[in-house]
Amino acid sequence: MNDYWHASDYRAVFERYDSNQAGLSSDQAKKHYELYGANRLPEPEPVPAWKRFLHQFHNLLIYVLIVAGVVTALLQHWLDASVIFGVVVINALIGYLQEGKAENALNAIRQMLSPQAMVLRDEVQLTVDAEQLVVGDVVLLQSGDRVPADLRLFRVKGLQLQESALTGESMAVEKGVQVLEKDAPLGDRTNMAYSGTLVTHGQARGVVVATGVNTEIGRIGSLVAEVKSTTTPLLRQMDQFGRWLTFGILAVAVITFLFGILLQGYQAADMFLASVSLAVAAIPEGLPAIMTITLAIGVQRMAQRNAIIRKLPAVETLGSVMVICSDKTGTLTRNEMAVRTIVTCQNRFSLTGDGYDPHGSINLGGQAIQVEDHPQLGEVVRAGVLCNDASLQQLENNEWRVHGDPMEGALLVAGVKAGLDTNAAIQEHPRSDLIPFESEHRFMATLHHSHSGGAFIIIKGAPEKLLDICRLQRTLSGDESLDRQRWLNQIDEMAKQGQRVLAIAIKPTPIDKIELDFQDVEQGMILLGMFGLIDPPRSESIEAINQCQQAGIRVKMITGDHGATALAIARQLHLVNSDDVLTGQELQRMDDQQLSERVMDVDVFARVSPEHKLRLVSLLQDQQQVVAMTGDGINDSPALKRADVGTAMGQNGTEAAKEASEMVLADDNFASIISAVEEGRTVYDNLQKAILFILPTNGGEALIILAAIVLGFNQLPLTPVQILWVNMITAVTLALALAMEPSEPDVMRRKPREAGEPLLTPFLLWRILFVSIILTGGTFGLFIMAREQGLSIEEARTIAVNTLVMYEIFYLFNSRYITASIVNWGGFLGNRYVLYAIGLLLIFQMGFTYLPQLQFLFGTAPISPGMWLVIVMVASSVLILVEIEKLIYRKINRNRRIRNH
Ligand code: ATP
Repeated sequence: MNDYWHASDYRAVFERYDSNQAGLSSDQAKKHYELYGANRLPEPEPVPAWKRFLHQFHNLLIYVLIVAGVVTALLQHWLDASVIFGVVVINALIGYLQEGKAENALNAIRQMLSPQAMVLRDEVQLTVDAEQLVVGDVVLLQSGDRVPADLRLFRVKGLQLQESALTGESMAVEKGVQVLEKDAPLGDRTNMAYSGTLVTHGQARGVVVATGVNTEIGRIGSLVAEVKSTTTPLLRQMDQFGRWLTFGILAVAVITFLFGILLQGYQAADMFLASVSLAVAAIPEGLPAIMTITLAIGVQRMAQRNAIIRKLPAVETLGSVMVICSDKTGTLTRNEMAVRTIVTCQNRFSLTGDGYDPHGSINLGGQAIQVEDHPQLGEVVRAGVLCNDASLQQLENNEWRVHGDPMEGALLVAGVKAGLDTNAAIQEHPRSDLIPFESEHRFMATLHHSHSGGAFIIIKGAPEKLLDICRLQRTLSGDESLDRQRWLNQIDEMAKQGQRVLAIAIKPTPIDKIELDFQDVEQGMILLGMFGLIDPPRSESIEAINQCQQAGIRVKMITGDHGATALAIARQLHLVNSDDVLTGQELQRMDDQQLSERVMDVDVFARVSPEHKLRLVSLLQDQQQVVAMTGDGINDSPALKRADVGTAMGQNGTEAAKEASEMVLADDNFASIISAVEEGRTVYDNLQKAILFILPTNGGEALIILAAIVLGFNQLPLTPVQILWVNMITAVTLALALAMEPSEPDVMRRKPREAGEPLLTPFLLWRILFVSIILTGGTFGLFIMAREQGLSIEEARTIAVNTLVMYEIFYLFNSRYITASIVNWGGFLGNRYVLYAIGLLLIFQMGFTYLPQLQFLFGTAPISPGMWLVIVMVASSVLILVEIEKLIYRKINRNRRIRNH
């Protein structure tokens, strides 16, 4: 039966599932839910734990270690070999756990993006999680939605679906409601909307016939699996770097090996062990895991600040954003509309009151009026209530809430203020058809048949649009020809006060007209009046725009609204200094060359359609700008995809826009983009800090071994297992603390990073070398001193290891800020994880030095308290030296900046 819904009347579906056009009751829905389960597809089988664990070994560095371990075992250095293997396993375990943690964090965030569906339950329109849908539910579709379950359509208005998820065909298909042949193939079942397909156009209602695994897509079991990538350009860059580094290290190890046996006369076996030490020392085992975790922490922090990352690379890109193109309504403004002005042919009324609370008066020339004395006003207000999809609800705490478009809600409020019984008006003039609002045509029209016998069309929309289609205007004495200039002046006046203007017109039609199409509204409309609505800017937006200015980020307002309104709001937001506005029409007339000359300077783009957005993004990108662009409709998808950081609205955005985006704003708020940029910059900083911290350790260790070989020492200052200990233990403590590093105070006062700037700048390479040399000098120095004092090789090595670790502890503080000074309270105490990590590491080092079992494993010996004092003194030198280096760097930089100005 299930297969043939397309061949039966939709009423049969209603009958089968005990439903009707007004939807299920919530009790029925609950029963169906218990019977049929959630509307969910089974999760793809997760990769089994053992496979993920094994995967950790698939890494060039690990191969090198394994080979080293095998040869060490062949040389019968059993202890060394087992420690090397132990380290390999522990390393894999740490990688596995950290990757798992990162993966979980990302999954949790993906959960925040669960799709929603609009459904009728108990005759009320509700938004529910798509998982809650059951058979028999009536689902409302509109453009941009992803169809949430298999539906038999029963009411359709210009519905087109893109069914490529199911049929592979990317052309949108027109849908209807007629009963079809039984053997119609899937692609031709035009009265069905299948789960997973995308509404590209129009509106519809359908009844759910199948959910979850019973849907067509569930049956083929191949929902376009979201590519879960945990890699990013930076990580790939690092991966590449890691491979080169490994080859480089191997080459140096081989050369050293040959040098040792040929020139220094070492034994081959000894020299092999020394070369293994060198390789092990130079390879940053912990780095890849630290980088993954740093990114994951960044994603989590962004989510806490309402920016949900859909594609991991965006975390990095966000840090280098140079231009943000933002919508106005709801993103920069609060989207809490209120009608402030109503203009009719004769008069201009002003409205008082707060928000959606319908208490307030209508004034004319400063005096409250009675609406009965102004029939034209009454007509405008009533039309605004009828051509309207929103509803107004009084909550228990006496607050008022709007369901639907806030602007339409404001029209309802204006109706109540005018003393109109809105429900009665709607019942008296039931709606027979509509043309829904789309941002391309900027109007909405409805067809009504009143109980008293008349029929009429109402259209409301952008005033320029209505002035074009109206030839007449309604006055007290009847309809007369349109005084275009007067209306233009009125629009200008309202817009200059930042009011969004909406015009409204009417046209009587024959009573037998039951369908509304575009021709019907193209002529003969009679202009009734105009509304001026305010939508106050969000206070956070003003602050966020100020931050952008300090951070060298340009903000551009790209809006569908009128130019003068947009400019007035932009001024309130302190977004512009000039009066330049480019409108969609002007954009259309300019060629790419002309537009690209203006695109950087102009900050307000008005009456812009979605396809203009794509052009703007492309032209900005041609000028090497990294662009974030917001959007909410399906038509914004191409621009969102093209932008470096496409940003969709979580509350008012369509599924299509979300799917095209890198990031979704949970609160639709402009300020959240800026928070995300701040976190993006922090992540990048922290990645650099992790590298800057980890690599000198390896550099130092490698130099120590190299120096010892070249100088002909017959016993190395550090054994391979000791080196592995240092690398492992500091990676899981100190380096991890850096991943938690909070934003630097000046992070939003710097210019955006240059696009394509390498992760390892010459300055960073210098720092790595500089610190490597300091570490080598101190560690090697103390080792030699210990030997000269007659201490055993075990003691001398223990001193060397502890010196190295102590260096790292001090250097960790330096690494908290790359160039800023850390010599202040914040510098030492600003990240509590640093302090925990140091505490933990010291405990480990005590065990390493004094626990007999570890002494046996690592070949260490106890050292005296006096020696600890020497170690701490020597190691603290790095703190001072690096701070001096930073001071010099800052000085040179400041001078260079002054010279450049
Ligand atoms: P932004 O792109 O900044 O979010 P916007 O919300 O002003 O701007 P659109 O939603 O595309 O942009 O609206 C453009 C114009 O269309 C509005 O200025 C208004 O004149 C008209 N309009 C908006 N919503 C409706 C509606 N529900 N009914 C009729 N006309 C509308």
